[in-house]
Amino acid sequence: MNRRRRIYEGKAKILYEGPEPGTLVQHFKDDATAFNAKKKDVIEGKGVLNNRISEHIFNNLNAIGVPTHFIRRLNMREQLIREVEIIPLEVVVRNVAAGSLSQRLGLDEGTQLPRSIIEFYYKNDELNDPMVSEEHITAFGWAAPQEIDDIMSLAIRINDFLTGLFLGCGIRLIDFKIEFGRLYENDMLRIVLADEISPDSCRLWDIGSDEKLDKDRFRRDMGGLVEAYTEVARRLGIMSENEPLPARGPVLVK
Ligand code: UDP
Repeated sequence: MNRRRRIYEGKAKILYEGPEPGTLVQHFKDDATAFNAKKKDVIEGKGVLNNRISEHIFNNLNAIGVPTHFIRRLNMREQLIREVEIIPLEVVVRNVAAGSLSQRLGLDEGTQLPRSIIEFYYKNDELNDPMVSEEHITAFGWAAPQEIDDIMSLAIRINDFLTGLFLGCGIRLIDFKIEFGRLYENDMLRIVLADEISPDSCRLWDIGSDEKLDKDRFRRDMGGLVEAYTEVARRLGIMSENEPLPARGPVLVK
């Protein structure tokens, strides 16, 4: 598994060289980080769940014609993806106030927004991923105006699709973060969805109880993260009721 050349290691994933030119293998780790990696832990089973949930979502997005980097899942922790040039932006789509938006504008968490809002953050850990506007993005050349248009229309389609997908299984999509890349295909350049979509990158609340089924359980020391992610996977129909929690290592019996 780890004999391949490592191209890049991030906080929750590793990218390895793929089997063919233009492909990479995306490996999901169990590492959890928050607040720009000031808070860290290893949560056994998280990587396996995110791999499966992200596979399900990317397959569905590919099926409705949203271009993505995803090719297929390879095993419990890895997926085959197309190599893209990552645009250095975190694109956040919000439907309901929470997290940094609530703090910034003094909105109660859970307040429905008048419409969906798209925000851009510059991907730079040293600077703590600062929020930026389209003006910054074009002035500094991180993306061209046409690319920003493509990103915004894809983000809206993805939001509409995900909102319906989660609503169908009793989950309210509060907000999420996505990343895009440039894919070069026969002299053509296309913007495609990259990275992952999982409970690590979304806020997901149970419709009935507002229970959090996402990474806020880790950020806010609530516990039960693997159980919450498993619940999301079960509701999406990815794992059957009886399937055991994934990737539990051997248990020491005393
Ligand atoms: N998010 C993410 N990675 C980041 C920052 C945010 O996946 O580095 C997601 C986060 O899980 C939430 C959404 O983007 O679903 C909006 O996050 P917010 O700006 O409220 O920041 P936070 O409160 O998480 O710091």
